[in-house]
Amino acid sequence: MRTPIIAGNWKMNNNPEATTQFVNAVKDHLPASDQVEAVIAAPAVDLPALLAAAQGSNLKTAAENCYFENSGAFTGETSPQVLQEMGINYVVIGHSERRDYFHETDADVNRKAQAVFANQMIPIICCGESLAKREAGEAQTWVQSQVTAALKDLSADQVSQLVIAYEPIWAIGTGKTATADQAQEICQVIRQTVEKLYDKTVADQVRIQYGGSVKPANIKELMSKPDIDGGLVGGASLDPDSYLQLVNYQ
Ligand code: PGA
Repeated sequence: MRTPIIAGNWKMNNNPEATTQFVNAVKDHLPASDQVEAVIAAPAVDLPALLAAAQGSNLKTAAENCYFENSGAFTGETSPQVLQEMGINYVVIGHSERRDYFHETDADVNRKAQAVFANQMIPIICCGESLAKREAGEAQTWVQSQVTAALKDLSADQVSQLVIAYEPIWAIGTGKTATADQAQEICQVIRQTVEKLYDKTVADQVRIQYGGSVKPANIKELMSKPDIDGGLVGGASLDPDSYLQLVNYQ
């Protein structure tokens, strides 16, 4: 069935030296990658250090963003082609911080997802509602529409390989985790949305992560839910011991 995938999202934390130290501390204690895929998403400036230190280990690597063109006059952007040449496995796309602070739209997220696939990497596509949307009872429809827009024009084969991270914005970095039932409810809606857009085979293959104040104390309960296949973890992924507890939750 679906291999669980636990990804640390470092955001704008750690320098290359800290990256090397972190990977050296965890790399011999990771689960076999057919049991649980352990991923670190690091800032672009840390990726060479991440790749060098992770070489030969079970650690998979992710960028936190990329552009949708491979090269050209796009000052300050990161090329998906270069990420692929470096050996990066995954790219986080459409994190709520990128949508909020850097004005990424659903259309941008879709173009980036296509660019990631065109460069033989796998996108981790983020979605999730604000507190206002949840309180208005619009969490499900909001997430459905984000997912539908993100997957536009992707093939069934592509969608069956990708990862969708459900991250309610009100639970990110706030210490307020969605309850496992709240997380499961929306992750199930996401899987049903994929089934509606594609078919049951694709929906059964797509991996769905929950993110938002995931920590060693709640990972087990979240992972026990039928539609939660992993976690996207910010704060609790920065400490090697905590990261190891998360990826070794089984
Ligand atoms: P958090 O962040 O675990 O610190 O809440 C999650 C994320 O933004 O991916």
